Amino acid sequence: MKPMSDKLPFLPFALPEIGEEEIAEVVDTLRSGWVTTGPKTKRFEEDFTAFLGDASLHSMAVNSATAGLHLALEALGIGPGDEVITTTHTFTATAEVVRYLGADVVLVDIDPATLCIDVKAVESAITPRTKAVMPVHYGGLAADMTALLALTKKHGLKVVEDAAHALPTTCGGKLIGTLDSDVTVFSFYANKTITTGEGGMVVTRDPALAQRIKTMRLHGMSRDAFDRFTAKVPSWYYEIVAPGFKYNLTDIAAAMGLHQLKRLAAFQKRREEIAQQFNEAFAALPVITPPVPPAGDVHAWHLYVLRLGDDVKVGRDAFIERLYAAGIGCSVHYIPLHQQPYWRDRYGLTAASFPHSQKAYERMVSLPLYTRMTDDDVKRVVGAVRTALA
Ligand SMILES: *Cc1c(COP(=O)(O)O)cnc(C)c1O
Repeated sequence: MKPMSDKLPFLPFALPEIGEEEIAEVVDTLRSGWVTTGPKTKRFEEDFTAFLGDASLHSMAVNSATAGLHLALEALGIGPGDEVITTTHTFTATAEVVRYLGADVVLVDIDPATLCIDVKAVESAITPRTKAVMPVHYGGLAADMTALLALTKKHGLKVVEDAAHALPTTCGGKLIGTLDSDVTVFSFYANKTITTGEGGMVVTRDPALAQRIKTMRLHGMSRDAFDRFTAKVPSWYYEIVAPGFKYNLTDIAAAMGLHQLKRLAAFQKRREEIAQQFNEAFAALPVITPPVPPAGDVHAWHLYVLRLGDDVKVGRDAFIERLYAAGIGCSVHYIPLHQQPYWRDRYGLTAASFPHSQKAYERMVSLPLYTRMTDDDVKRVVGAVRTALA
């Protein structure tokens, strides 16, 4: 038996990659005296629009994607009596923002081939009260936006994309954020494909929506702090046009974002490399590897979700315990919303209504996948998966 000191250190499920440029930019921000929303946030927004490559887009930085989703639905006028359709197989943030506004959430099942929202199920769930649909690009793979946008156009519904996993993801060769939906929201939470600690970006092409979102992200003020100190009108003057929120991003966070965004292409390449190594290693095992995009499209590889095949005797929970015992952190994305007490009880939901999400949930595990993993880390995960399946 090996002594304890030879044991490999625990491999966490996720780790951010923060470089010297990010650190220097944060320090520069701290020394500049401007720590809240200011010039660096503005630059981050400009860089984000430039990255998306479409100057007609408005990119608006916020302090979380949850805040951004809330602002998007608020700007679209979602309120009591309205219904918003989304996938049960998501994080609660996607759905909770609908409830903030007093509207109702209608959860639908996933397409088992993509683990993204099932567009046919969306169609069946449409009622006269339906106002909007919120697809999630699960794991970094685009939902079937061609079919969904055709459906929502036909029924006059709004679309807010929860793109928390989808930077940079493409759909039909176009970057998520540039499609014909109303609003797209990205997350820069610690474990997302780029991070500002906490943060998010709201993107829309509609100038009226952009105006409303900008106003509501900072107390319902008719202009934000940065404009106030650079515009011609007296610096102390502002107007409150609505009871808004406190959702602005700080320059400290934006300082990180500026450099994370520059590294996004390299980050995506490394994530894809790791995903390919996993795919090859697991091809002969009794598991289902994650769905891949159509040829030519980009997967952001936010998550690597493995599903245990029907013949695998070890249960999912025991499988995760075995990986932990081998020093590998993993997770489950997600415990479906129909299983969560609040959503289950409020809408009287049962697993029988969501067979694909339920089955995927019971057999799935998210493996570590992040840019700081070495090839040896990847091999270690592969070895642990093989052993855990045996
Ligand atoms: C992370 C995440 C969010 C929330 O992002 P925050 O920036 O933490 O608010 C929303 N939806 C999905 C699918 C997520 O994974």
